[in-house]
Amino acid sequence: MVACKVENNTPEGVFWMDLVRYEEGAYPVTKNWFMARPCNHCDNPPCVAVCPSKPKKTRYRRANGLVATDADSCIGCRYCEKACPYGVNYFHTEDPKKNMYLDWDDKDLAKSTNGASPAYKNPVFDTKIGKEKRKIAGSNHRPKVVDKCTFCVHRVEKGEQPACAEGCPTSAITFGNLDELTSDISKILQSKKSYRFLEKAGTKPKVYYVGGRQPGPNSIEVEKIQKKKA
Ligand code: SF4
Ligand code: SF4
Repeated sequence: MVACKVENNTPEGVFWMDLVRYEEGAYPVTKNWFMARPCNHCDNPPCVAVCPSKPKKTRYRRANGLVATDADSCIGCRYCEKACPYGVNYFHTEDPKKNMYLDWDDKDLAKSTNGASPAYKNPVFDTKIGKEKRKIAGSNHRPKVVDKCTFCVHRVEKGEQPACAEGCPTSAITFGNLDELTSDISKILQSKKSYRFLEKAGTKPKVYYVGGRQPGPNSIEVEKIQKKKA
């Protein structure tokens, strides 16, 4: 969560990567589980299906499977936010820069970096990404635009790992190409039992959880996501 916030400079209260805790059992015999929750970059994403933007969908699935939002064409209708069963989208009603923990326009900050960009200013801000040449809603955090985890598209395009995978001290997150049978991620999934969150929703999520169990309907994190959606 921290690596994601530092990399993407997300505003206060916004967690593109969330860590949800859920409990099983009844007191005093209970067990806690932890589940990292980025965007699932679904293969059948309802957020893309409902996006009404024309002529091209603003929420779209890139050729490599990442699900992205075009920051320039989003009309802020929030259909994607409602359609996603995972509660991963964030809509900014006002300029989120105002409450960021790093104020990019702060003169003292600029002085401390000798006029250079503040250390964590994300270069994806005004960059058109990939062959499609679209500005992906990311750390620009514009008002009236929906953003969410981008799988650190600006890093992945350069052959780097997403910040959460690189920053995890126990290497609990493996990121890679599911279409390549010899990639680390494919080997793990071939050899270990895994599940995908809310798989029954038919979204074909591309985040797999190895070990643990699919959370039940009464677990804390399901309640939390349902509250957020309500
Ligand atoms: Fe869309 Fe939600 Fe799936 Fe992400 S997790 S691709 S926002 S439906
Ligand atoms: Fe598409 Fe933007 Fe509306 Fe989401 S808020 S459905 S990305 S136009």
